[in-house]
Amino acid sequence: MRLGPDWPFTTMTAPHTSSSEPAYNTPSADLELVACPHCDLVQRLPALAPGEAARCPRCDKELWRRREDSLERTQALTLAAAILYVVANTVPMLGLSAVGHHASTTLYGGARHLWETGQEVVAVLVLFTAVVAPALQIGFLLAVVLAARRPRPAHWVATLLRHQPKTATWSMIEVMILGVLVALIKIADYASVIAGLALFALGGLVVLLAVMQAAFDPREVWIRVAWADEAARAATAPDAALEATP
Ligand SMILES: [Zn+2]
Repeated sequence: MRLGPDWPFTTMTAPHTSSSEPAYNTPSADLELVACPHCDLVQRLPALAPGEAARCPRCDKELWRRREDSLERTQALTLAAAILYVVANTVPMLGLSAVGHHASTTLYGGARHLWETGQEVVAVLVLFTAVVAPALQIGFLLAVVLAARRPRPAHWVATLLRHQPKTATWSMIEVMILGVLVALIKIADYASVIAGLALFALGGLVVLLAVMQAAFDPREVWIRVAWADEAARAATAPDAALEATP
């Protein structure tokens, strides 16, 4: 056999794809086969009861924990987080009273004030990590769990599912709350500080976001979601896998 200059990649071309379509890799027919993300050991996942977890026999990393009612619980927690997020961004977060003057600000108002006083970089960071990223984190997860309840979620669900962990990484409300609390303690000697409803909503949101992520099982969605190459899915007998997962 003569090997071409692009060998071995030619062997990865799926036989069912025509020359006009993009070539995808050939997936394994065994959907329970996973590679450990820590040490790369390829292994087969056992059948797990809700609450049980599978660990890598080599490095002991947890590969998969089967959550109970993952989609329903995540949907309820995500809706609650969305409500708290709206409250946290619409009502005042802090009020200050000094020598007869009173002023209050919202989360967005604080970021705008930073921008107007020349702290543009800090303003953008606060806006992105405390307003934009949490909104994307909640919005992406809500769209994923709502779509995953349908019999065959569209392929865009896979794109959202891939990017959702990045939004969770950039969502840093707890860091902002710590900063606000430190500033409050420093300013308490000079003015009366009134903690607004938004501050309590943000505190609740920090807990809800963590619980929401912990309740979510991406594997349940990956099993249901439509593939970029549906012909390759047929080769892996997806309906059997779908029925195996209640
Ligand atoms: Zn491992």
